[in-house]
Formats: sequence, C-alpha cells, structure tokens
Amino acid sequence: SNLDHRLAEARAEAAIAGLPRGHFIDGAFVAPLEGGEMESFDPGLGRPFASFANGSQADVDRAVQSARKAQKAWARTAPAERGRILRRIADLILEEGRRLALVEMFDAGKRLREAEGDVRSAARGFEYYAGAADKLEGAQIPVGEGYLAYTVQEPVGVVAQIIPWNYPLTSAVRGVAPALACGCSVVLKPAEQTPFTALLLAEICKRAGLPDGVFNVVTGTGARVGGPLTAHGDIDHITFTGSVGTGSRVMSEAARNITRVTLELGGKSPHVLLADCDLDRAIPDAMGAIFENAGQICSAGSRLIVERAIRDEVAERLSKAMAGLRTGHGLANLDVGAVNSAEQLARVEAHVEGARGRGNSIISGGTRLSPEDAPGGWYFAPTLIEAPDPADAIVQEEIFGPVLTLQVADDFDHAVALADGTGYALAGAIHTRDLTKAVRFAREVDAGQIYVNEYFAAPFEVPFGGNGKSGFGRAKGLEGLKTYCKLKSVTMKLV
Ligand code: NAD
Repeated sequence: SNLDHRLAEARAEAAIAGLPRGHFIDGAFVAPLEGGEMESFDPGLGRPFASFANGSQADVDRAVQSARKAQKAWARTAPAERGRILRRIADLILEEGRRLALVEMFDAGKRLREAEGDVRSAARGFEYYAGAADKLEGAQIPVGEGYLAYTVQEPVGVVAQIIPWNYPLTSAVRGVAPALACGCSVVLKPAEQTPFTALLLAEICKRAGLPDGVFNVVTGTGARVGGPLTAHGDIDHITFTGSVGTGSRVMSEAARNITRVTLELGGKSPHVLLADCDLDRAIPDAMGAIFENAGQICSAGSRLIVERAIRDEVAERLSKAMAGLRTGHGLANLDVGAVNSAEQLARVEAHVEGARGRGNSIISGGTRLSPEDAPGGWYFAPTLIEAPDPADAIVQEEIFGPVLTLQVADDFDHAVALADGTGYALAGAIHTRDLTKAVRFAREVDAGQIYVNEYFAAPFEVPFGGNGKSGFGRAKGLEGLKTYCKLKSVTMKLV
C-alpha cells in the first residue's frame, strides 16, 4: 500500500538499521556484559522494528562506576562552560530533529507531528537549563555581628533516572538537563518499549562535548536493569517516572540505602466545564486533553466533569467530534495514534469492558480498531463513558489510553468535590468565564498543576509534579533544579 511505501522510506530516512545497539557507558556504545538483546515494536503495525541490549546488574555496575568517576570533574567544570555544552546539546537536538522524531514515532507509536513537538520541547529543556547552570546561587544570611553565614548549592552527585514509554525523549530531558546543569552525572534507564531516543541523545551529548561518563544509558527491563539500579548503593538520587506500583517499590528499595528519591507517578486528572464556559473552545480542548498521545499522558484530562445544565450539549458535541476522529499509524499524521503495546491495549480494553459490565454507558467508541492500512497495529477507539458513580473503577483508576469519563456536577462546589477524590493529584483544569470561580478552583483542588481555560497550558518554565498518589518532587522550571542540588550552610565565626 501507499503507507507501506512511505514507511519504508521513513525507516530509511531515520536510519533504523544504523541505530545504536549497546548501552552508552563512559562515552561509548558497549555490548551488554552478559549478552542478550530485546526487540522494540512499532506499535502502529504491531511488528518489531529494531533490537537493543537487554542489560543486567553487571552493566548497571559499570555505568554507575563510570558516572561516579566522571562526576567530580564535571561539578568542577565552570558553570558557564556546563551551560555552553547544554546549549550545544539543545542545538544538536534540533539539528537531528527529523531523525529523532521519526525514531520516536516508530518506537512509541505516536503521530509524527506529536513526536516533532516532543523534539522541540526536548531542545527547549536543554536551552532552559543551559541558562540556569551559572545561576545556582546561594544566600548570605544575616546572623549578627561576628559571623558570616551563607548557603551553597552543591550537586547531589550520581543520579539514576528511570522513565516510562509514553514520552521517552522529553521525560529523559526533564531529568537529565537539570541534573547536568547542576553538575551531577546520570545513569538513565529508558523503558524497554522505547529505548532508542535515549541512545540517540547520548550520541548527541558526546558530540556536544559532554565529558565521557557524565551521561550513561543502560537499556533493558525493569527487573534486570531498573531493580539493580534502584538498589545500587552508590547512587545519590533516584528520579523515577512511572506507575504507582513500581514507584512504591522504588521508594522502598531506595530507603535501604537512604537514597533520595523523587516520584512522578500516574494521574486521573479532572477537567471541569462550568455552564458559563465557551464550549467552542472547551470541547476541542477537552478532546486534546485526553486524545493527545492516545491518552497515554500522566497528566491527561481523563475525567470530564460538567455542570448539569450543559451535560446534554457537551455529550452531543463530544460524540459528534469524536466520530470524526481518524486513528492510524503515526506517519499518516491522522488525529489519534497507536497505543504503545499489546499489553497496554489489553489493559485499556479490560478497563472499558469492566465499566460496560458494571452498567456505565459507553457514549462513543469502546472497542479496538483495525485501520485498513495499518494491519496488526495497536489501536483503541476514542471513547466516552458516562460514569454516574464517582466510586466506580472507571472514575477511580488510571487507564492511560484514549478513554474519557463524563461526570455530572450539580454546581461548582459539587464539581470541586468530584475533582478531588481519586487519591491522585497531578493536574486539574477548569473552563469558565468566572474569574472568582477559577481562582477558587485553583485554591481548593489538590493538584500539582492547575490549568484555566486551556489544558496543558504550562511551558517549560513552569514546575511540574504531583501530590498524593501522583508522587512528589517537581520537574521543569527553577524548582526542577532543586532535585539535583544539596544545600550546604556555612557559618563562620569571624575571629
Ligand atoms: P512502569 O512503572 O511499569 O515502568 C516505568 C519504568 O520503570 C520503566 O522503565 C520500567 O522498566 C521500570 N521498572 C519496572 N519495574 C521496575 C522495578 N522493579 N524497579 C525499577 N524500575 C522498574 O510504568 P509504565 O506502565 O511503563 O508507565 C506508565 C505509567 O507512568 C503511568 O502510570 C503513568 O501515569 C506514569 N507516568 C507518569 C508521569 C509523570 O510525570 N507523573 C509521566 C509519564 C508516565
């Protein structure tokens, strides 16, 4: 078919056959010490497209040693010079943007347009933290005559970063860029579903002049690589992004060595539409909040909460708009891309079938899809489910797919009560023309980030993270630097 031909061209352009296969340790690609490879799948076709190293404890040990060896010299590198190297990484990400986007598209199943957005955001992350490297200032503290007291921001040391498969490149950057800016070294473990842009990023770091050993990548499974990395005694901080269950295990492993940890976990974020809102804006926004990246976004607006007066109009407009969404391979750049894995597709389907079985009404979608020109791919129809019971699992559990629930609120206070109440507290959004209600919503709803009149509004300058079951610690913005610094207070008696 036409798509087959274009896919072959895209694979050639992305130089898939020439992708790095080993781990990146101490400035070079190296074969796994204990051998073993895995395959990564193109979710758009459900077929393997490239293989990579399945690491083990021995590779983790080697990577941590390399990071430890390189860290002190990197920390002593002039901050402005660290910034310059980060800036070059940003430039090279853009220069290599086409390949990065194509590889990300094949690896994660996202639409090419989304992958291109991720590449720009990755470059922006390095640009942002490049400018921060020489602004890690401490404070001078007045303690009275005879003393000088001040604080110093020191790099925390060796950082282990473990990330999931939904935003492989940008979630790597959210940890790697601030860590490098602060003078830390990093061992990154990408998800086993999506290892390749991390390896390409390593190549770029090397070309940008980052000293060997400062950034390392070990690929492989959670059990073989993630576990040993978390339990390693010579790590100073673990940045984990992923599911609540794994986050909890990582935290208890980290506790054995008193290793610092930040956790960015799941979400079930409320998106409230008040009766006074501009539905011409709110409806497309509600769709983008859940169908972007096929709903595989920790901060997706997965629960639409509408005031009763507009329930019918919202349901009607949404189902009409959803019926027009086209789903297909990322390269075709339709409206919705693939689900990342066969397991994830099965999980999404099980959630929806469960909801159906418990009597919730499926207003739109609700089934797998097999687009004609992407046979074998992993697709789920954009789905809208009305869920009258706020305690129902479809409202309470993160689905991580293109599934939106609809809840009806009697009034503003009821909407706020429904917005809280899942235990997750990652994002929360409201559409309204009433400024007072917007401000009250921002004050009363528990979430790491609040959006008003536009979902996902926050750029890189704005801190991001969760409360409650969604984890703790903040990435992005100047707050994102604190994760990778340890504060030292110095008090001198002036004799
Ligand atoms: P997951 O927890 O299964 O996997 C995440 C990472 O942890 C992978 O690299 C995996 O290999 C690794 N891992 C697995 N077992 C491990 C272990 N025992 N020790 C150490 N590492 C281990 O998560 P997933 O299902 O792949 O990802 C989806 C989840 O990630 C969703 O819940 C989503 O909400 C969350 N997420 C959160 C954010 C955020 O910023 N809050 C961003 C993206 C995704």
